[in-house]
Amino acid sequence: MSVLTYHRIVEGGGRRGFYDVTRRRFAEHLDLLASPGPAAGHEPCLTFDDGTADHLEVAGQLRGKGLSGTFFVIVGRLGWPGYLTTSQVGEIAAMGHRIGSHTITHRALPDLSPAELEIELRDSRRRLEDLAARPVDWLALPGGYGSTRCLEAASHAGYAVVRTMEWGYAGAPLHGSVPCLPIRADCDARRLRRILEGRARVWPYRIKERIKVVLGERLYVGLRDRLALSHDRRQVGKDP
Ligand SMILES: [Zn+2]
Repeated sequence: MSVLTYHRIVEGGGRRGFYDVTRRRFAEHLDLLASPGPAAGHEPCLTFDDGTADHLEVAGQLRGKGLSGTFFVIVGRLGWPGYLTTSQVGEIAAMGHRIGSHTITHRALPDLSPAELEIELRDSRRRLEDLAARPVDWLALPGGYGSTRCLEAASHAGYAVVRTMEWGYAGAPLHGSVPCLPIRADCDARRLRRILEGRARVWPYRIKERIKVVLGERLYVGLRDRLALSHDRRQVGKDP
């Protein structure tokens, strides 16, 4: 399966992050995802990270196309400016989408003590089950950081699926630790089609992972965002 990882869906123009997909581009993605055919053997599973405010509209758009998604919510940010409210989480669930946990604080799980880990996993799940009024057993690792200890703790806390940020196609049915295909700002419909056809190239991600190891996470993210910004500037006028 192609587990697609989206983040924010934003207006075109202005300063955008590395994973911010414009609304126009996302509409093209939805047309492709709703059309029969291109996903043979690599059925898409749409996931959306961080519980940002735009995801309520995204949930409605998906439903309009007969698609469903999984929304990974950061419980501690509910009601913050730019994030979903508690009642909106209920609305998204009522539309038939899955609600998953993206923990309470979005801290990297391997850095946490066993007690903190337990709170992040168990309490976020309970809270989301209350809001969604149904069981929650999918987890997305904040920042993609995990370890064997974290995966064991997640399983103990009742999660059946843990979506990592490791690049790759997943086997069906989804179970346990699951890789994904992160959708970046520059993913146009042609690239998405390649992903859905099982033809996405692995090497750019391998290089990215290598650079991350060499530079360290903080330097890597800073550099990545600066490059994305200069790329955006070059794209001005092409992708409003
Ligand atoms: Zn996240």
